[in-house]
Amino acid sequence: MTVVTRFAPSPTGFLHIGGARTALFNLLFARHHGGRYLLRVEDTDKKRSTMEAIDAIYDALTWLGLEWDGEPVSQSAKRDRHAEVAQQLLDTGHAYKCYTSPYKLKEMRDQQKAAGLPTRYDGRWRDRDPADAPAGVDPVIRLKAPQEGETVVNDLVQGQVTVANAQLDDMILLRSDGSPTYMLSVVVDDHDMEITHVIRGDDHLTNAFRQIQLFNAMDWTPPTFGHVPLIHGPDGAKLSKRHGALGAEAYRDMGFLPEAMRNYLLRLGWGHGDDEIISDEQAIEWFDGTSLGKSPARFDTEKLTALNAHYLKSADPQRLIDLMAGDLETATGAAVDEETTQRLSAGMAGLAERAKTLSDLKESAALYVRPRPLTLDDKANKILSNSGRAVLAAAHNVLAELEPWTAGALEEWARNYAEGHGLKLREVAQPLRAAITGTTVSPPIFEVMAIFGCSESLARITDVTVTT
Ligand code: GLU
Repeated sequence: MTVVTRFAPSPTGFLHIGGARTALFNLLFARHHGGRYLLRVEDTDKKRSTMEAIDAIYDALTWLGLEWDGEPVSQSAKRDRHAEVAQQLLDTGHAYKCYTSPYKLKEMRDQQKAAGLPTRYDGRWRDRDPADAPAGVDPVIRLKAPQEGETVVNDLVQGQVTVANAQLDDMILLRSDGSPTYMLSVVVDDHDMEITHVIRGDDHLTNAFRQIQLFNAMDWTPPTFGHVPLIHGPDGAKLSKRHGALGAEAYRDMGFLPEAMRNYLLRLGWGHGDDEIISDEQAIEWFDGTSLGKSPARFDTEKLTALNAHYLKSADPQRLIDLMAGDLETATGAAVDEETTQRLSAGMAGLAERAKTLSDLKESAALYVRPRPLTLDDKANKILSNSGRAVLAAAHNVLAELEPWTAGALEEWARNYAEGHGLKLREVAQPLRAAITGTTVSPPIFEVMAIFGCSESLARITDVTVTT
């Protein structure tokens, strides 16, 4: 059997972080088994499913590296097929037409409520002679669900879950306007797409019973289900906008890397021993549908940030430069050209060491792009207005002779110079930092000066020491 999974979002807004995790789990499970992972856009709610929302899902999945196999399937395009299956169920006696008016349904429910009973369709048209059909009323089509026995879900996560069939009423498959319901569409599509495994949020567990009944009525094999607990916020309540839960793309805008997101989402509800850092290859090797947690995982931005910091350090410098170039150019008004690119790649390790997000990195990386003469920030100005300028003026001539121009040699010179002048090392380093970067915070200044090279460093020193 080839494993086929799917991610089936309803495009009614951005891609929720829980949806991203569902997509990831389905992708990993399929890859683990050498199978296929498909995308089905559940766009039957035409009012809410905008093209914009669909594009946002494609974009977010692509950014997260969760691209699907083949063409995405549009559920709404399968409407005729769904209706055809409803007709087949009618033909085989597994479904029937129900003419109960909305008014009568409400009356039925009110009575059930008054009697303290669960509100369920009472099957009044189930065995009625179709000749009783009232004229001019378009019926709905309902599943003739089994009334005895039980329906069992052998769930990858929840284990064996059973419901008495008497608790499930005859659900609607086709509405009176001929449109298919969600239950019918999902089952038909999962069958037609040859889906073997469905991993999704446990808010769909109760749907699984009804869906299995429908699979059985069609004599189709249901997929294996895995219902994962929903993600919770730090306070233990279901993650929602109230917690500041955002669409997946918002994390991109905040400077998270897709590999950090994947690693983090993977660990939300799944584990492999104590492993925290898990590569894509390891995830594929290990994600076999076991070790899925039964209790809800809590979203922890700090953990995500820590993972992001890890992935920033190991990312290819050129990739980071490409990711930041546009914003760096906007922020500095200068081009990320060959020279600045060289500086950025030489300085990337030192910058990434101190950054937690790509946004942090952009902020600090601007130092290698910003052209001279620099506008000094207030703190840098303050350092230079004290004894700083004097240190720099004295240093300038000595530095001009320094060889080799390396971070080690620069630091050694600074130490000697400080010692010889009764200064602390930082009293030499800070004026240099102010002159070279225009700020008081940067990676180690001698490393930065080594990257700028002798003449650029001296020019920057001159910029702040020579007054015109
Ligand atoms: N479209 C449903 C949702 O977004 C998922 C249906 C399913 O996975 O079966 O919640």
